[in-house]
Amino acid sequence: MKSEKPKTVIGVDLDGVCADFYGRMREIASEWFERPLEELPHEVSWGMSEWGVSDKSQYESLHRFAVTQRELFKTMPMIPGARKYLRLLSDEGYRIRIITHRLFIHYFHASAVQQTVEWLDSHGIPYWDLCFMKEKEEVGADIYVEDTPYNVLQLRERGLYTICFANTTNRHIGSPRAASWQEVYEMVKANQR
Ligand SMILES: [Mg+2]
Repeated sequence: MKSEKPKTVIGVDLDGVCADFYGRMREIASEWFERPLEELPHEVSWGMSEWGVSDKSQYESLHRFAVTQRELFKTMPMIPGARKYLRLLSDEGYRIRIITHRLFIHYFHASAVQQTVEWLDSHGIPYWDLCFMKEKEEVGADIYVEDTPYNVLQLRERGLYTICFANTTNRHIGSPRAASWQEVYEMVKANQR
């Protein structure tokens, strides 16, 4: 049996990269604070202070409400291009490894995982591995696609090629940056040795 060349593994974040986390959270925050949606700016930074989230514990309450009462992980729209370009990469022989840090509400893991896999299937996102991990560098991907500023910096600090998926929370992060899934695709191809 001939041995296959190992595949290039692409570590793909979900929230803010495949799923429109900030778009859906804006709607839920408007409900949570009982404020009209149009009062909440689209331009938001990490921590969502522009929407009235004052500290970490309030963020956690809002997040818990979103996940447990509004099925956040199941109801986010897909970021355009995610399905098309991940399928293209998968068909071209890359291994798609989804990496997400979604299990941070204790005793709610079954629902968080279920919402996640249902979302992935119903949006036709191809993947071979699904990792629920905070320490993303531990999963051993060759290329990462990530939007959270802290995670991008951590991964790059370890010498890992990390594409920053651009949104309003990471404007201060340097290149490589992708403004769309088409750009992610082009960067992955250009990175091939
Ligand atoms: Mg993210």
